[in-house]
Amino acid sequence: MLYQRSSQLFAEAEQVIPGGVNSPVRAFKAVGGTPLFAKSAKGAYLYDEDGNRLIDYINSWGPMILGHAFEPVVEAVIARAKSGTSFGMPTELETRIAKLAVSMVPDIDKIRFVNSGTEACMSAIRLARGFTGRDKIVKFAGCYHGHSDAFLIQAGSGAVTFGTPNSPGVTQGTAKDTLLAHYNDLSQVSDLIDHNKNEIAAIIIEPVAGNMGCVPPQKGFLQGLRKLCNDNGILLIFDEVMTGFRLAKGGAQELFGVRADIVAFGKVIGGGLPVGAFAARNEIMNYLAPVGPVYQAGTLSGNPLAMAAGLAMLEALDNDPSIYQRLEEKTAYLERGIREVLSAYDFPFTINRVGSMISVHFDAEPVVDFKSAAKGDNDRFRQFFHGLLQQGVYIAPSAYETWFITDALTYDDLDFTIKAIDKVAKTL
Ligand code: PMP
Repeated sequence: MLYQRSSQLFAEAEQVIPGGVNSPVRAFKAVGGTPLFAKSAKGAYLYDEDGNRLIDYINSWGPMILGHAFEPVVEAVIARAKSGTSFGMPTELETRIAKLAVSMVPDIDKIRFVNSGTEACMSAIRLARGFTGRDKIVKFAGCYHGHSDAFLIQAGSGAVTFGTPNSPGVTQGTAKDTLLAHYNDLSQVSDLIDHNKNEIAAIIIEPVAGNMGCVPPQKGFLQGLRKLCNDNGILLIFDEVMTGFRLAKGGAQELFGVRADIVAFGKVIGGGLPVGAFAARNEIMNYLAPVGPVYQAGTLSGNPLAMAAGLAMLEALDNDPSIYQRLEEKTAYLERGIREVLSAYDFPFTINRVGSMISVHFDAEPVVDFKSAAKGDNDRFRQFFHGLLQQGVYIAPSAYETWFITDALTYDDLDFTIKAIDKVAKTL
């Protein structure tokens, strides 16, 4: 496979964009080599600037749950663009997507749209602080909630890939209000609460972590957090930027039967356009401006193109609940296939999966938190990544990421991928 044109484009980009990219993980720094430049995509496939076709397991890092260039989304955006691309005034479209989202997600009354998952989580925290009158938050090591200051403390995803889980530029003042916990360790969270009585506004968590590979919550963990929050006047925030509208119509809340007080969304809710959102019951959402005192705003928030894309995506998911069953079956099939293939070799591996989120870790121990995720063999992952790329299979260029399965994948694509993994495993 040749990457000549991608290499040229990357060299050009590096002259005018830091690292040649507008989001660090895209740069292939963790795995080495030159990032591919996308030219187009359709369904399960990406086409790069050199004309290579790749089976895509990143899917724009989650949004393309029904495949690239999903027709209803594309048509909605084109139609909408012809009537104007931004007004700075409310539109009926915003109410329509809000109504639909509220109907799909358990126990939320109101939702506010923003432009990214980062904004959604940042605003959710501000709202929680305003609502409770408390300053501190608890986050889990290895969870990523976007790049706002309060969260860049032992963050996952690109923050760990690039060795700066605690970013310079985040002040000590901000860092001191972010308490760190270990994923799946309830007693440690309980200790943190005891040591910070009546000071913690919120616990924020990815209900299935997807930024240290895929790390599922152990049985009772989310329920335990819910109880600790109830007992201590703390708000539970689910960051469902990855899991929302992916694991079920109602996301992780529905899948695990645990309710959060505030839920943050991104990715799927925008159908591939820049959208984030946060939602809660009336009592909390009415704390937001212009009704309440907590300020939050956005020139392009609720942008008509973004809302048209999101609405078309949510309608497709709402109208055909069998999508979730299909995604479960396809991803389970892939998991079984990979497990069978890799079992024939003597290097250790662990596969984690919840619904259509899956990750392969090169370590024998269960991966249950950031510490265990970090034990994986990164050199082996690098070879695995490049081997698969050579075979035309595109997985995330870092061990600290989840693969996102799309409904556009056929069983032939999955079989091809499993065979490709076998070929690559021989070389590891
Ligand atoms: N939360 C989670 C769980 C995420 O995975 C991400 C991005 N991968 C974000 C928040 C931030 O979203 P965005 O990149 O849209 O700002």
